[in-house]
Amino acid sequence: MSSPVITRFAPSPTGSLHLGNARTAFFSHLWARKAGGRFILRIEDTDVERSEGRHLDQLLIDLGWLGLDWDEGPDVGGPSGPYAQSERGAFYRELFARLERGGEAYPCYCTALDLELSRKLQRMAGKPPRYAGTCRHLTGAERAERESRGLKPTLRFAVPPDAVIEFIDLVHGPQKFSSADLGDFIIRREDGTAAFFFSNAVDDASMGVTHVLRGDDHLTNTPRQLMLLDALQLRRPGYGHVGLLVGADGTPMSKRHGSTSVSEFRERGFLSEAILNHLLRLGHTSDVDGWLAPADMPRHFQPDHLGRASARFDEAQLLYWQKETLQRMSATEIRTWLGSNASTAFIDLIRHNVVLPPDAAPWAAVLDGELAPLGEEEQRLISAAGPEFFRAAVAALDQSGADFKQLTKTLKERSGRKGADLFMPLRVALTGQAHGPELAALLQMMTPGTARRRFESHAKNI
Ligand code: GLU
Ligand code: ZN
Repeated sequence: MSSPVITRFAPSPTGSLHLGNARTAFFSHLWARKAGGRFILRIEDTDVERSEGRHLDQLLIDLGWLGLDWDEGPDVGGPSGPYAQSERGAFYRELFARLERGGEAYPCYCTALDLELSRKLQRMAGKPPRYAGTCRHLTGAERAERESRGLKPTLRFAVPPDAVIEFIDLVHGPQKFSSADLGDFIIRREDGTAAFFFSNAVDDASMGVTHVLRGDDHLTNTPRQLMLLDALQLRRPGYGHVGLLVGADGTPMSKRHGSTSVSEFRERGFLSEAILNHLLRLGHTSDVDGWLAPADMPRHFQPDHLGRASARFDEAQLLYWQKETLQRMSATEIRTWLGSNASTAFIDLIRHNVVLPPDAAPWAAVLDGELAPLGEEEQRLISAAGPEFFRAAVAALDQSGADFKQLTKTLKERSGRKGADLFMPLRVALTGQAHGPELAALLQMMTPGTARRRFESHAKNI
């Protein structure tokens, strides 16, 4: 019998949810849902100074908004709790003691200055800097002497010499590392809190996580974490390291690329379905090219199709998925998304001209408000038609009212213009733009007097 798939997302609440982290959370979630397994949310907040409650709240909101629900976590509990590392100190202490008893970990009294000096010497000797093992063989008396001076030790893992650490990365395939390249590393900080390498690995093991998906930047951490798990005789999860998310120019995603966090995209009016459709294709080849409803995504997630290459996030692509999502929404849903109280007829009229909420404002202004100043192309179309044309338009409008067909018929006869020469200046005068929704319907919905005023404004000789 194969064990159930248990995946997790293990964020450090030190900032808003970055799109890159959202993607690994999403893949992990998809994997659990595809396999009928469980998805765990674990908060890695051992770095007390950088972890903040408001970041945690925001994180839960962002994940919930994306629809990435968790089966176990800080708010819902579960069999492997607590799910915030800041509350798991007792468990870590027990494991630290076990390692110390077995001689697999030892206190290190080196100060930051000692370590800096040692690194300098190593660099001067042309060696890669790593912990020199200074405190590894201190006698009981030497330790006591340091304690009596009030030195607070860190705890270091004693890396076994000449070990070969092998594992099969779920994305990169077979990996092989030599322990000779790794210095003894810190597993407990001076203040007694667990260091990342340690808490991250032992929690995955103790929570029964079977598949860890995370960014490539953690690949070289994995051999250290595996040595720890082996020393503690804890079960190794499978590790898969996915290519990092980069901007359209290939450099790591940062503020220079515009929005980078889930909340920024949400605030700009992007829809979660659009984001998920884009993320699904970033570093993962789906067997379906078209838009997918989130509920259908787990079926089309293929863990063996996760990529090693960095994946390019492209806002143009996101806008494409945004349009695809909007096409599938009802007028009522779009109205809610816009935060508007416009009529269904108006929403249906403008929906194909709106990608983000601010796009709706100019069309509302067309019905009842001020048009934005004309662009170059629009100005040219107005000038080409000339004031005579608009004087005729005013007269035709007075006869036809809001009946666009009648208006254009009359105006065609009076002005001698037809086709684009007839329609384009009308469109620009009425909407301020050369493109947009159906003109006849817009005219019907305009507040009385608005159309006439707009024609008149172009009817004067200058
Ligand atoms: N807290 C770590 C991070 O946010 C977790 C890394 C992992 O997924 O193992 O980078
Ligand atoms: Zn030391």
